[in-house]
Amino acid sequence: MSHRIRFLAGVLLSWAVVCAHAQAQGPLPGVPPALVEDIVVGSHILAEFGVLDGFGHVSARDPADPSHFLMARSLAPALVTADDIMAFDQDGNPIDARGRAVFLERFIHAEIYKARPDVMAVVHAHSPSVIPFSVSKAPLRAIYHNPAFLAAGVPVWDIAQEFGATDMLVRNNDIGRSLAAALGDKAVILMRGHGDVAVGPSVKAAVYRAYYTDVDARLQAQAIALGTEVTYLTVEEGAKADATNLMVIDRIWNLWKQRVQLQTSK
Ligand code: MN
Repeated sequence: MSHRIRFLAGVLLSWAVVCAHAQAQGPLPGVPPALVEDIVVGSHILAEFGVLDGFGHVSARDPADPSHFLMARSLAPALVTADDIMAFDQDGNPIDARGRAVFLERFIHAEIYKARPDVMAVVHAHSPSVIPFSVSKAPLRAIYHNPAFLAAGVPVWDIAQEFGATDMLVRNNDIGRSLAAALGDKAVILMRGHGDVAVGPSVKAAVYRAYYTDVDARLQAQAIALGTEVTYLTVEEGAKADATNLMVIDRIWNLWKQRVQLQTSK
């Protein structure tokens, strides 16, 4: 065998070993495929309903290491597939980037998972209906039972208060920490002139909350426009309705999932 052929055979063999190893390890060891599917389906659902456009992201806490989280590489939510989901450490550094671009605002997720052990999923959106409530004095409130999680209160965080004039993005850990502190124990926070973040005990819950935050904002603006006093859910009604909603969430999730799967098979 000539030196050249032996060399090429060696290269091919090393390549095959590397591939076999990658396959055996899997891209995300210890992560249930169903969780990855929820992140993918959730991204498609929120894109389908216009809550996310080309921007925004859905993440989940990593069950293999609860200090880590899972989210897509930098990509429009409607285009996310299972192969795009990556793991990040508690500070938002990719575990194994393999050259993939990552979201600038991953620090939103990193710092909320660090501050809130109860949170298992996070959605960041530039939800159009919500923006007016992020820049005005009208507080976003729960106007009906589906967005009951808003009744506990919706803080508004203004990046300028701590960080002065920025490009408005949560592009480092300090800014993410400030946002997570302002969120406190709530389900949703508005970001002045930017968007919102919804959190929950599962991907389904966080997606549900991101969706109904957008719907609530639209309906609240309509109710205010009627020009009379508006009656909102009380804190107690909100807590009771939220518990019920979380119990029946699969019904709406399965409907949404079927809808986005029909879209992709067209
Ligand atoms: Mn953003």
